[in-house]
Amino acid sequence: MNPIYRDMPTTIFEAMSMRARETGAINLGQGFPDGPINQQVIVMACDAMHHRSNQYPPMVGLPELREAVAGWYARHQALDLNPAEVVVTSGATEAIAAALLALISPGDEVLLFQPLYDAYLPLVQRAGGTARIVDMDRTRWRIDRDSLASAIGPRTRLLVFNDPMNPMSTCAHPDDLALLARTCLDHDLIAVCDEVWEALVYDGAPHRSLMQQPGMRERTVKIGSAGKIFGLTGWKLGWMCAAPPIARVLAKAHQFLTFTSPPHLQWAVAEGLDTQDAWIAAARDEHQASRDFFCAGLQALGLATLPSAATYFVTVDLAASGLVLDDIAFCEQILARAGVAAIPISAFYAESAPTHLVRFCFAKHRSTLQTALDGLARAL
Ligand code: PMP
Ligand code: GLN
Repeated sequence: MNPIYRDMPTTIFEAMSMRARETGAINLGQGFPDGPINQQVIVMACDAMHHRSNQYPPMVGLPELREAVAGWYARHQALDLNPAEVVVTSGATEAIAAALLALISPGDEVLLFQPLYDAYLPLVQRAGGTARIVDMDRTRWRIDRDSLASAIGPRTRLLVFNDPMNPMSTCAHPDDLALLARTCLDHDLIAVCDEVWEALVYDGAPHRSLMQQPGMRERTVKIGSAGKIFGLTGWKLGWMCAAPPIARVLAKAHQFLTFTSPPHLQWAVAEGLDTQDAWIAAARDEHQASRDFFCAGLQALGLATLPSAATYFVTVDLAASGLVLDDIAFCEQILARAGVAAIPISAFYAESAPTHLVRFCFAKHRSTLQTALDGLARAL
C-alpha cells in the first residue's frame, strides 16, 4: 500500500490545494478551470432561484433535467436513454458513491483499474466490497487481457472504469472497450462507468461510451457531471444513467445520501444542456489550445510530456526529462521553489506506484500558465 495513500488524512486534491493556499502557489494541482466558465447557466440559475421553486425537487431529479440529459446523450453519443433512466445526483462523486452502495453486497469483489481516481477504493471498501486491482500498462495505459482475466473470481460483481481517464488523460482504446464489454457479458458483471470528462475530448476525437458496446446498454451505469461540462466544478451536479431495473436500485441509495440536489442548479443545467452546445464545443477548443500552449512551454523547459487526449490535465515524465527526483519530492520542490502546485501520480495508485510521473492542470488563463512556466524555469 502506497504510504501517501494509507496515511493521507484528506484527499491529495485537498491536501495540495491547502498547500497552494497556504503558500500562495499557483494551483495546477486540483482540477478546476479559471475559464471558460458558462455565464449563461449562471444567469439561468440566478433567475431560477428568484422565479422558481426553492423547495425539494423530486428525489430522482427535475423531469426537465432528466429529459435534457437524455437529449444531450442522444445528440452527442447516439444513446437512446429514456429520461426515466436518469437519476440526478449532487455531483458525479455522489453518483459513484450511490452506485457502489447500491450494487455491492458485503464480500462482493469489484474490479478497479489502476491508476484509479481517488474516490473509488475507499467507497468500494466502505460498501463492504473487496477491490481487485488491475494495473493498466504503464506506457499506453491499455488494459492487459491476462491481468484482467486473472483478477476475476466467482464473487466478482462489478467493475469501475473511468473514461476519459483522470489522471492519465487518455481515452479508452476501442479494443479495450470491447474487451470490457465481453468480460461483463461473460462474467455477468455490471460496469460503473465514470465519464465525467466526456465533453473534454480533444483533437476532434469522439467520446465512446462503454454503454454503446453490444450488450452493455442493460448493464452499464453511466456517470456524468455538469461541473465539467460548464466549467463550474463547484456546482456539484451530476447524474447516473442506467436501464430501469438498475436505475431503481441506484435511486434507493441516492435517496439516503442526498435525496435531491438544489433546484436552481437543476433548472439551469437543464437549459444549458438544451441550448449551450456551441459554447461547450468552443470551451473544449479553448482547453485544447491551453493544453498546447502549456505543453509547448513545459517542453521548452526540457520536461517530457505524455499525450493528453482529454481532461484538464497533462502528465510530465520526470525520468524521461532526465530528472532523478521522485514525484513527491518534485512536487515539494516546485511548490517551494517555483510557487506551483501539482499532483504526484503515485497518489492514484493503491500499490506498486510509479514514482516518475506528475500531473499538471492546464485549464487556466494563459497568463497564469505563463507565470507557472516562469516559476518552473527558475526552479529547474
Ligand atoms: N470522477 C472523476 C474521474 C473526476 O475527475 C472527478 C472530478 N474531477 C469526479 C469524478 C467528481 O466529479 P463531481 O465534481 O461532479 O463530483
Ligand atoms: N477531480 C478533481 C481532480 O482530479 C478534483 C476533485 C476533488 O477535489 N474531489 O483534480
